[in-house]
Amino acid sequence: MVRLRIRFCGVRGSTPAPGIDFVRYGGHTSCLALTHDGADAPTLVLDAGAGLRKVTGMLDGAPFTGTILLSHLHWDHMLGLPFFAAADRADATPTVLLPEQASGEDAQSVLAGVMRPPYFPIEPTQLRGRWTFANVAPGEHQIEGFTVLAREIPHKGGRTFGYRVSDGHSTLTYMPDHCPTAFGPGEHGFGEYHPAALELAHEADVLVHDAQLFPEELAAEAHFGHAVADYSVELARLAGARSVALFHHRNTRTDNALDGLARRLGGDSPNVSVAAEETVLEL
Ligand SMILES: [Zn+2]
Ligand SMILES: [Zn+2]
Repeated sequence: MVRLRIRFCGVRGSTPAPGIDFVRYGGHTSCLALTHDGADAPTLVLDAGAGLRKVTGMLDGAPFTGTILLSHLHWDHMLGLPFFAAADRADATPTVLLPEQASGEDAQSVLAGVMRPPYFPIEPTQLRGRWTFANVAPGEHQIEGFTVLAREIPHKGGRTFGYRVSDGHSTLTYMPDHCPTAFGPGEHGFGEYHPAALELAHEADVLVHDAQLFPEELAAEAHFGHAVADYSVELARLAGARSVALFHHRNTRTDNALDGLARRLGGDSPNVSVAAEETVLEL
């Protein structure tokens, strides 16, 4: 049986969340590592949050050869990049792909907008190894042996893509930051189930989706650009996805609060889980 392995290296949104109230679900920001069936090492990494540091430990001392695909450029999705030790070494061959910007600016310059003095000690080009920085456009791409569909989705402050990643047998949909209320309230008041979201999530094995907000927070905080957890479950249901992993937990959301979320929304159709760092899914 073919198994795609997906490791949750970081599940948090906005900032890391250390401390005793966050140990079970974890405090690192967004990062997923994907490993092909039969392979030892991950070759596709979704987002470069603080959790990216953990990917080094998956490589058994080897350099990273693969692609880091960014959903967008907010700090919590790229702050791990210069601390990815397995990629910051002479024998590494990393590629970073990020959403093409309306300005047409090249990827390296876009990344250098947040990663250069005085904001950070070095620029992207000063990382060790043979790095490639490139843009990714909406549409279908072949990346590291995966078929990846990229679609622009509403968020706030910067072009943001959701991705549908398939190895030919299993499909993962990744939408960590998504503000569906930008298109209206939708039939449940959680936001619109718009065509790009439905296409990305269509019959996916797992939908990893923004669950930053609880319903009582939506009215006051939707303008920050995130989704309510309930939207994720309804989207999975409407799109025919088999399971949903609630993701990008608010940085103040304690383990107990996330246990409560699991109790409230947990179900079998689709199967609902609350994403926790170190969980490995095999599809
Ligand atoms: Zn985020
Ligand atoms: Zn964001």
